[in-house]
Amino acid sequence: MRVLITGGAGFLGSHLCDRFLTEGHTVIAMDNLITGSTDNIAHLAGHERFTFIKHDVTNYIFIDGPLDAILHFASPASPIDYLELPIQTLKVGALGTHKALGLARDKQARFLLASTSEVYGDPQVHPQPESYYGYVNPIGPRGVYDEAKRFAEAMTMAYHRYHGVDTRIVRIFNTFGPKMRLRDGRVVPNFIAQALRGEVLTIYGDGSQTRSFQYVSDLVEGVYRLLFSNEVEPVNIGNPGEFTIKEFAEIVNELTQNSVGMVYKDLRTKDDPQVRQPDISKARQVLGWAPNVSLREGLKLTIPWFREELQRRGEL
Ligand code: UDP
Repeated sequence: MRVLITGGAGFLGSHLCDRFLTEGHTVIAMDNLITGSTDNIAHLAGHERFTFIKHDVTNYIFIDGPLDAILHFASPASPIDYLELPIQTLKVGALGTHKALGLARDKQARFLLASTSEVYGDPQVHPQPESYYGYVNPIGPRGVYDEAKRFAEAMTMAYHRYHGVDTRIVRIFNTFGPKMRLRDGRVVPNFIAQALRGEVLTIYGDGSQTRSFQYVSDLVEGVYRLLFSNEVEPVNIGNPGEFTIKEFAEIVNELTQNSVGMVYKDLRTKDDPQVRQPDISKARQVLGWAPNVSLREGLKLTIPWFREELQRRGEL
């Protein structure tokens, strides 16, 4: 297959490039590099089945030749990023999805949208099944991301129903692993970097809010299976192992042997979801998928990467 991956130089996009190349496909990665980095795909330079195009997916896309699939993964994805880049976040979810769908229609390619557990907002149903419509504040600081992704899902279904485009939607829950940006402000890079530097871990709020973290290889496997399945409606891909942020901080400190502890700070925004846990019954049923990597195992694979990254930058 010849596959276009938007956001291909980002955290998830670059892991997907690796997977599709390993499976023998041809990959075109597109990224405007506002939050992605060519560092993530540098090892693919010169690969005969890999091309990188620096382009903003919200503008008209021209790709020469056939395409079999488009994976739309371009978007700022951490709360800090979308607080700093609110308009770009809205544009890539709305205009970018429109352009990528238009290209899929033109090329008769299958289209897969990277959606998010954020469509569930601060959920009133726990754990969250795909049938839950969510509890999102459209005008809150996180609304730019949540609503852009909700619009993107609506646009994807409209192209499917109206234009007959073959579409897939994955709702991605918190994912971590090597190549996450050190400074993207999310809890995983923040805590690991703080712990490796021997600093206190900054917990926002009282640390009782929960998240369910999946390791990146599980996400990639889920996306790969979804693309080749027949499921048009959204599918949650996430690890149901749920931890409070305080528990998560304790695990990071334990694995890095950081004895300094934690400090409590004000919540970043009042819309910070209190709980989040995927119901993955559907993924199990239609994809035969379930996560393989536990939080601790995933952290043991991730911490060394962050250590090297900090050393490379002369920060350790
Ligand atoms: N968080 C924290 N300390 C940090 C960064 C984040 O306590 O240094 C909390 C944050 O308030 C949220 C959770 O960790 O409740 C997960 O935040 P993240 O930015 O990773 O992503 P989110 O799941 O909120 O989109």
